[in-house]
Amino acid sequence: MTTQQQQNRIKIAVQKSGRLTEHSMDLLVRCGLTYSRGRDQLICYGENMPVDVLLVRDDDIPGLVQEDICDLGIVGGNIAEEVRLDLETKGETELFQKVYELDYGHCRLSFGLPEGSSFDGPQSLNGKRIATSYPNIVSDYLRRNNVTASVVEFSGAVEIAPSLGKSDLICDLVSSGATLRAHHLFEAETILESKAVLIQTPKGVPEEKADWIRRLLQRVQGVLQVRESKYIMLHAPRSALKKIRALLPGSEAPTIMPLEGRDDKVALHAVCRENVFWETLEQLKEAGASSMLVLPVEKMLD
Ligand code: ATP
Ligand code: ZN
Repeated sequence: MTTQQQQNRIKIAVQKSGRLTEHSMDLLVRCGLTYSRGRDQLICYGENMPVDVLLVRDDDIPGLVQEDICDLGIVGGNIAEEVRLDLETKGETELFQKVYELDYGHCRLSFGLPEGSSFDGPQSLNGKRIATSYPNIVSDYLRRNNVTASVVEFSGAVEIAPSLGKSDLICDLVSSGATLRAHHLFEAETILESKAVLIQTPKGVPEEKADWIRRLLQRVQGVLQVRESKYIMLHAPRSALKKIRALLPGSEAPTIMPLEGRDDKVALHAVCRENVFWETLEQLKEAGASSMLVLPVEKMLD
């Protein structure tokens, strides 16, 4: 491969091993990527697209996109926000843009207080010491709420800080709350809701690269859409069509076809952009629909 060809390959930064790794690689595979893993295990070389995946620590991902080493990155919204605020405080311009919110990596950044202590709004934090790995997000929250508290930066195992006497409370990522409970802390307030996000450098890229980036982003959008989408087929009395169409979640104009030998009934096919639950089918049945079939959608391209 020539240097030019090498430079025209798209680089995506993905977490090397952690909560986002499997989902992120799965997303790229669903976009059609097949790859071989380098011997050093740090790069996945795309075989059928000019796309390589760099496997790195999640904290490094926004920086790699910021410095234009990678064109795209997949990272928790929490990390993207922390880095964005950090750059803002330093007076530097943020050079990565959020393109899509993805449908995994859900968590929240919350204050955890020792059981038995009380929390009565942000003002209860005045004069307290808060241990966190997200000093910028926490400081920003304190500033916005006119609270004076000290932020103690911890890079891991934040939840043990209060029992070590290093802080009065913590601010950390929570999903089920089990970790907090195990350390005799309770969740007092959420300051950020987060999901994995796809970030992109807004810098201009060569046309050959730009074209593949566009295609890849379009495919990501397609994958996100189909995960929720369903194809629904049913029979409906002509007289109930209006009511039935109104019940279909997130559907555009459906296809209506005549049924052989029936003037009063038609067949309706539609793509629903939201999941179709049993409740919806029950309501459709009540409205007069019959012979209902709900099928998963494999691929979608608008
Ligand atoms: P790395 O070695 O890459 O630095 P890490 O330990 O910082 O890994 P993980 O624990 O794998 O990161 O979490 C990665 C991301 O997963 C988080 O930044 C967050 O966006 C998301 N996430 C989802 N649920 C949770 C949770 N319960 N706790 C922590 N992170 C979560
Ligand atoms: Zn990390």
